[in-house]
Amino acid sequence: MSVFSHPEFDAHEHVAFHHDAGSGLRAIIAVHNTRLGCGLGGCRMFPYASDADALTDVLRLSRGMTYKAALAGLPQGGGKSVILGDPRRDKTPELIRAMGRFVESLGGAYVVAEDSGTSVPDIRLMAEETRHVGGLADEKSIAAGRTGDPSPATALGTFIGIQAAVRFILGHDDLRGLNVAIQGVGNVGYRLAKHLHEAGANLWVTDIHAPAVERAVAEFGAKPVAMDEIHALDVDVFAPCALGAILNERTIPQIRARVIAGASNNQLATPADGLRVLDRGLLYAPDYVINAGGIIDIHYEGPGYDEAVVHAHLQRIGSTLTTIFERSKAEKRPTGVIADAMAEAIFRA
Ligand code: NAD
Repeated sequence: MSVFSHPEFDAHEHVAFHHDAGSGLRAIIAVHNTRLGCGLGGCRMFPYASDADALTDVLRLSRGMTYKAALAGLPQGGGKSVILGDPRRDKTPELIRAMGRFVESLGGAYVVAEDSGTSVPDIRLMAEETRHVGGLADEKSIAAGRTGDPSPATALGTFIGIQAAVRFILGHDDLRGLNVAIQGVGNVGYRLAKHLHEAGANLWVTDIHAPAVERAVAEFGAKPVAMDEIHALDVDVFAPCALGAILNERTIPQIRARVIAGASNNQLATPADGLRVLDRGLLYAPDYVINAGGIIDIHYEGPGYDEAVVHAHLQRIGSTLTTIFERSKAEKRPTGVIADAMAEAIFRA
């Protein structure tokens, strides 16, 4: 298993491997770039099929965090960590504590937050071993009803991004009567549906988890749709909020929405799919730009958290997307390519 010559290596500053015999922890921390600040990123726990898969995942994800933080206007770099194991079976307090000590050993180059397979309580436990944690609400915030879950901010940022995309296409940001198809009504998708419903949009939803669909139907009058039909509906906006790689060779020709704007990570299956989207004349909001609300929220979390400041920062997602859309149109290049170039100009300056 190579590291320096790995296809995803991309000049990472640190790649650290750790085994803790006492707890059985096996983990990797990758810090891509700290030019703008420490490498902030979630800790994913997943039963990887191989060590090589875990390394590929952590390198790809930490690089993505550098781009996301730069375009979100945060004084932060990109990092990520993975724990090799099944969170349902292998997670123990000892293992999480050992992860906290591993984070501490990097001396602040990496700041850990939650990701799939880890939760806010896990990060709180790590915080007993390291100062370098993000996204933990303090007592005042907890009393105000916040937990440090980034999903509400991600959903609001995605809503702001949809408004920007609709304004770009239709010239106004009144969402009344707008038809939106949401794939996945989980933590983010459900809250996005609420914002859209309150703004007067009509909703179509799907989810592999039937109660999630039933809740959106009951609360927002959403119409349930079969899972393999959601992307092909004749609506204004398709909002992927479930899995990655939904925009691919098979689905792109079937999409009828003019706007693709949702919170899922890694929506394009391959870079070629960015070109396919452009060639079809669809407006795609790059995933890491529109879903940056969570990392913005994590940045401000802690003593002195001010919701108004966070919301003002989230609004910048809309203006960044508008710039990307304008440049994509003028330069006839995919929005994702424009976003990458803009991010690189910031973190490599
Ligand atoms: P979640 O697990 O709470 O919700 C995802 C939902 O999608 C679930 O309800 C799940 O049942 C459903 N789903 C899974 N596979 C599906 C399929 N094939 N078809 C339809 N529905 C399916 O996750 P989340 O936190 O809401 O995140 C959603 C997406 O947004 C993920 O891609 C995540 O990486 C990304 N994201 C989330 C955040 C955040 O703050 N939570 C931040 C940035 C990006």
